[in-house]
Amino acid sequence: MSARANGAAFVWDPSIASHVYREDHPLKPSRLVGVHDTLQRLGAFDRPGAKVLAPRRATRPELERVHSRDYVDAVMQASEHPDLDYSDYGLTAYGDTPPFVGMHEASLLTTGASLVAMEASIGDEVRVAVNYSGGLHHAMRDSASGFCIYNDPAIVCGLLVDRGMRVAYVDIDAHHGDGVQAAFYDTDQVLTMSLHQHGRIPGTRRMFFPGTGTAEERGEGKGAGYSINVALPAFTDDIAYVRAFDAVVPELVSRYRPDVLVTQQGIDAHFTDPLTQLQISTRTREHAVRWFADSPYAWVAMGGGGYDLDAVRRTWSLEFLVMLGAPIPAELHDPEPPIWEGANRHALDELVDASVRAALAAAW
Ligand SMILES: [Zn+2]
Repeated sequence: MSARANGAAFVWDPSIASHVYREDHPLKPSRLVGVHDTLQRLGAFDRPGAKVLAPRRATRPELERVHSRDYVDAVMQASEHPDLDYSDYGLTAYGDTPPFVGMHEASLLTTGASLVAMEASIGDEVRVAVNYSGGLHHAMRDSASGFCIYNDPAIVCGLLVDRGMRVAYVDIDAHHGDGVQAAFYDTDQVLTMSLHQHGRIPGTRRMFFPGTGTAEERGEGKGAGYSINVALPAFTDDIAYVRAFDAVVPELVSRYRPDVLVTQQGIDAHFTDPLTQLQISTRTREHAVRWFADSPYAWVAMGGGGYDLDAVRRTWSLEFLVMLGAPIPAELHDPEPPIWEGANRHALDELVDASVRAALAAAW
């Protein structure tokens, strides 16, 4: 293993944060402006090793590494004529992923931004490169899903495999990384790991989106044991999450010995996020991202979900400072994260430990 380059790159241009899915839509790409401006105010981009890289547009062949021709054609048409019916492709006006004018062009840029991050990381320009406009892990080969149009993490993993690399994909978004898992379900060239909320939404009869991601989904054929799922109960807090992360991620990533680590760092698992019932804080995220940073692998990082805009701003700013090896100002941390005690603590830990055992038992 060669020594890795130092430094961290932040892929940025205001154009990756200017599109609007729908006025009332929870995914607001403009949330990245707050991350960028916070980092700028803190002097992060002036620190040694810091780089800001411009995004580029993904190419059609890059999209088709994961998506079908028909689907890309449909998105291109929806981008010009969003009023037609694209429901066969997962795009519906009042659903999770609405068609909107310019959606193809915006998605080419957010996808290409992840490709810029990939090239910087494996080209050894920097220790890590991050595209917080990416991480759109729910998109499938033939359809949009869950706010995701093109699946940039799957495209990155696929292109790395095409270059002969072994890839460990670690998804710490609150939702199951189903689209990435599906893209590599039958291969051992990508180890996909996802830690996510699973089960009924408390107080309702609905399943938490997307409903998949139990340990039994472990891959098939040559991929058997290379899809790893840690299904977490609602209300998982920092203590339980860190136990699960530490028990599963270092063990399996080290055993797999990837050439490249690809991480999806959605921050909708935050305790103030309006769309999920996980209860983690900036403390958990600092812990996880430090493990990624201290690992010996080339590392490509992406964003993902995150619907409390101030939690997004603070957490992703903190994460980039960790990537730089810079000190973390107290203003970025949650002052008082919620932690369960007593009988609730015991019950939660039992559930999480069972999920950890199941995840480890499913591995190759
Ligand atoms: Zn999510």
